[in-house]
Amino acid sequence: MSESLVVAVDGPSGSGKSSTARGVADRLHLAYLDTGAMYRAMTWAMLQADVDLHDPEAIAAAATRVHLESGVDPLDPTIHVDGVDVAEAIRGEDVTGAVSHVAAVPAVREQLVELQRATIAGNGHRIVVEGRDIGSTVAPDADFKFFLVADPAARAARRAAEDGSDDTVATEQALARRDEIDSNRTASPLARADDAVLIDSTHMTLAEVIDTLVDMVEKGQS
Ligand code: C5P
Repeated sequence: MSESLVVAVDGPSGSGKSSTARGVADRLHLAYLDTGAMYRAMTWAMLQADVDLHDPEAIAAAATRVHLESGVDPLDPTIHVDGVDVAEAIRGEDVTGAVSHVAAVPAVREQLVELQRATIAGNGHRIVVEGRDIGSTVAPDADFKFFLVADPAARAARRAAEDGSDDTVATEQALARRDEIDSNRTASPLARADDAVLIDSTHMTLAEVIDTLVDMVEKGQS
């Protein structure tokens, strides 16, 4: 059996995590898990079921009834809620606006962290996992840990381009609000693990960031 190779990629929204993590997984022939998509899918399910998002107990109770499935091919990641393909729906504004509240509920985090660990194990511990708390909580024993950052303006410009919007000021404000909630929640907040390598991608292209991570993993393994 091949050796374990768990790569944790954490960082705030718009830091380039997703594209980087997928590119690294593809180059290293590893599986890929987008944990943000799992929190988004859970939020989508809550909105569908009209759960009161200001009621953490109602969120926790509803979460136990939601069945999530993540496809881990970095070239074609998928996400299903109770058999429904929600890949597009979870990128909508309604989900983006609500996800940080759902992700702050400890019972939701426990449920999803368990699922994330099962996915890591189910892929023979050969996987790139991206999120906010992977190196600190989900996989503290990861073989490699990276924490991606970028200036707020660069992050907003990237995210606005992805969303097809030209209002980077509004995007920057929305990102800042989400960062604030994600960084200050009690249950495993967005945080850089002490042993994570900090990568500032503000002045780097995506290809350069991917090359940097792949190089570090390849050198670290030899
Ligand atoms: O990465 P993405 O922007 O899709 O994540 C959406 C939200 O999911 C984040 O703003 C955060 O609230 C939550 N999240 C989290 N822990 C993770 C990944 C995402 O709390 N590991």
